[in-house]
Amino acid sequence: MKRTFITAIGLSVAMLSQAFAVTTPTNGNPLETIQPNSTTYWQQHVDYKMNVDMDVKDYKYTGTQELKYTNNSPDTLKTVFYHLFFNAFQPGSEMDVRSRTIQDPDRRVEDRISKLSPSEIGYLKVSSLKQDGTAIEYNEEGTILEVTLNKPILPGQTVKFDMEFNGQVPQQIRRSGRNNAEGVALSMTQWYPKMAEYDFEGWHADPYIGREFQGVWGDFDVKLTLDKEYVVGGTGYLQNPEEVGHGYLPEGTKQKKVKGKTLTWHFVAPMVHDFAWGADPEFIHDTLETPSGTTLHFFYKDKEEIKENWKKLQPKTAEMLAFYNKNVGKYPYKQYSVIQGGDGGMEYAMCTLITGERKFGSLVGVTAHEFAHSWFQHVLASNESKNEWMDEGFTSFISDLCMNQIMGENKPNPFEGAYRGYIALANSGFEQPQTTHADRYNYNRSYSISAYSKGEVFLAQLGYVIGQDNVMKTLRKYYNDFKFKHPTPNDIMRTAEKVSGMQLDWYLTDWTKTTNTIDYGIKSVTEEDGKTKIEMERIGLMPMPIDVMVLYKDGSAKYFYAPLRMMHGEKANPFDGVERTVLPDWPWAFPTYSFTIDTPKSEIVGIAVDPSGLMADVNRENNEYQAE
Ligand SMILES: [Zn+2]
Repeated sequence: MKRTFITAIGLSVAMLSQAFAVTTPTNGNPLETIQPNSTTYWQQHVDYKMNVDMDVKDYKYTGTQELKYTNNSPDTLKTVFYHLFFNAFQPGSEMDVRSRTIQDPDRRVEDRISKLSPSEIGYLKVSSLKQDGTAIEYNEEGTILEVTLNKPILPGQTVKFDMEFNGQVPQQIRRSGRNNAEGVALSMTQWYPKMAEYDFEGWHADPYIGREFQGVWGDFDVKLTLDKEYVVGGTGYLQNPEEVGHGYLPEGTKQKKVKGKTLTWHFVAPMVHDFAWGADPEFIHDTLETPSGTTLHFFYKDKEEIKENWKKLQPKTAEMLAFYNKNVGKYPYKQYSVIQGGDGGMEYAMCTLITGERKFGSLVGVTAHEFAHSWFQHVLASNESKNEWMDEGFTSFISDLCMNQIMGENKPNPFEGAYRGYIALANSGFEQPQTTHADRYNYNRSYSISAYSKGEVFLAQLGYVIGQDNVMKTLRKYYNDFKFKHPTPNDIMRTAEKVSGMQLDWYLTDWTKTTNTIDYGIKSVTEEDGKTKIEMERIGLMPMPIDVMVLYKDGSAKYFYAPLRMMHGEKANPFDGVERTVLPDWPWAFPTYSFTIDTPKSEIVGIAVDPSGLMADVNRENNEYQAE
């Protein structure tokens, strides 16, 4: 009943959520010329050249890799590390043991790795490694290759690593693998020896247990040779469509005849930090040109029951692209591919692998989410392992807004599910701070809610703090300033500060580094000399500015705003057409706060703290007062 009171006065989040998507300028942002915050920022650089031969019968492959590695750090490097992700798919691996010992294992993994036979496991073995022509020592430790350098790499220096490797594609368990549940032959993700990232925090050579990633920016040149019946989609622009055909040939061009049973696919991908591909002999390959100049590619099994959905998905994906281009920033590549494969949905460079036998809404939903990762995982490559909430949370935020628009969902609060998830976790006692490494949550469930839901609420609630328009401006400036870099939590906070002119360190600190919760309430409503005194209290530790809506007997409403003193600023009035009174600041340390309205109590029908519902108050029971 109390909720109806809020909706009755028409002050639900509906009117606010519009601002997240629509009322924002689309170009000409004067802030775009401002430089990134850190003048000492640097990042390593990689240029890969790989030649890979895949045997589609026994799922074994061999490859050569030439890697030009540039040390842009101020440090001299004596060791380097590579990821060998496929080694995770072996009985007794860290991923296997973690999955069998965590209390709520991912159902896709559980004990499946422990049951793989030698011909079903995955592996990635390095058979030779040279630094500038000289053989060097290396040591395989699970999913990590530790390399002792011949000569240290000096700051500013580029060295060349030449590697020979061979691998076996595991039975599909999680993300990568062969013959997934929908019969896609090859989901080739995390499949090559990949240089680990070294940044201002040092090496990020995390053992792979099936979760998040961090990679080095650079250019990829990859040649894949496999059975000519297979259709390949993935990262990078195909360089030899006239030889390959398979839906890549521009109309009116003739395909060259290629002798032999195999085809070599030559892909080039500039400025990416990963390279993934999927392949199947039964793939249909459709393309869709978009007005922005990006061509969308779709690869899906030739199955009657999914065709219609995959056709309908294509214009929706174009709408997503337009939405993200407008609300975040321009997608910088000329190509994006939606590929059936994997075990759910996972984002990669210039492509995604998703399962395809879904209801239409789910197919669009997963594509909207994974495509949004192109902005927040790929181009803004924040460290997913350490700050998973910046990637999954921001992606969920923008894809929920996008779905709300392109699917005509018109939900009053598109983020409601995220708030519900976060509040349930906060009240459960199982929450860990968002600074927890993605691999080391006690429960998979608390990881997911913290990364996806609490991460999404970070932005939605920032809209409550600095205003929705400012959040959207912040996102666009953040994208513009940090694209092709590795932004940190501080970067989003500083960007929001610059856009809003408010101080926000407290917000980043309490929300992401602690499990402090927000709980504000109305303590008492009393009448004194014909006036009404409203006393509020702060019960939770996390501070917040406070919106209070007062509804009067005559049907009118007034909005009272108590800014948080340490913000040193005020947001604009988010309630169109409702008169606002800006009250004196609330210094957070004061557990209570009172203000007086010039109206007798008998004139007041109800009072609500945060009528928008955008503040993640863990106990909303005490947020409202209703006249008897
Ligand atoms: Zn995601």
